[in-house]
Order: sequence, then structure tokens, then C-alpha cells
Amino acid sequence: MAGIFAFKCRSCGDVHEGSPSFAFRAPDPYVNLSAEDKASRATLDSDVCTIAYEDQTDRFIRAVLEVPIHGQEDPFLWGIWVSVSEKSLQRYLDTLDDPVPGDGFFGWLSNQIGIYPSADMRPANVFIQQEGDRPKVVIHTNGRENDPLVIDQQNGISVERAQELAELAMHGQGREE
Ligand SMILES: [Zn+2]
Repeated sequence: MAGIFAFKCRSCGDVHEGSPSFAFRAPDPYVNLSAEDKASRATLDSDVCTIAYEDQTDRFIRAVLEVPIHGQEDPFLWGIWVSVSEKSLQRYLDTLDDPVPGDGFFGWLSNQIGIYPSADMRPANVFIQQEGDRPKVVIHTNGRENDPLVIDQQNGISVERAQELAELAMHGQGREE
């Protein structure tokens, strides 16, 4: 039976309702730019970010990464940015109003998720959704069998683990907001 995820928080004592959802406002490479570089080199809106360097331009789109919660209808949700090629970005923008079912492309996760640290960038497949829904990312499993985020995305997590991760993400180490 699917239910609504809710728990009494061991950190703040409140009851948090709804499956946990955390969003990054920008990809890490943008956040790390100086104010001057943000203004002169980069663009950022709610769905697309670009950074122009001397020799190349990096392009990012906003996507969602879902981690299923066992027995719950809604997944644990991360609003993250992925780095994509010029061609992929063009395709994404061209089909934004009329997405093609089954469309997708490759991308690199471009946010460090505090509770899921990673020494390197995670490769992923980006799956285009119906109009109005952000693309979904599924991390490549090959060679990343020991990555806790890969394991959680593949297997899903228990309600207990979801609560624990939500408490850490909201109040503890790895806080993103
Ligand atoms: Zn709390």
C-alpha cells in the first residue's frame, strides 16, 4: 500500500510531510564562479545554465534524480543539474514544447550531493519527460556498484533510511539550501 511519507523529525521535532525533495538552484561550477564571472561568462535561468570559458562553453540543464522509497508513492527527489553536450541541449530546447517519447541523451551530474559524496563526476542517462516535467536522470551503474547513490537509486530505500537521509539533508551535514 502506498502511503504519504511523513515523520517526526529527530533533529527539529517537527513533523515533515511529503516525500523529501531537495533542489540545487545552479550547477556547482556556476556556484563556484566569482560574481564577476557569473555576470560576464554565465547565464542561469530555472532550466538552463551556460558558462563560457576561454576555450569552451559548458552547458547544463536542470533535471530530477529519483530514489524510490519502499512502499511510498512518491520518491525521494533531488533537483540536480547535469552537464550536456551542445547537441543535446539544442535537442532539449527544440523539443521542449513537444517532447519526443523515448528521447534522451548523456549527461554528467553537476552537483555534489552532501550526503552522497563522490570523488568524481557521475555519468548518467537523461530521459526526456512529457511537456512540463523536467528530465529524469539515471546514473550509470557500470563501475559504480559501490556508490551509495547508485545503490539507492537502483534498489530504492526503506522509509527509515529516507527519514535518516532527509534529516541529514535538512539539518545536518550535507545541507543544501
Ligand atoms: Zn526537521
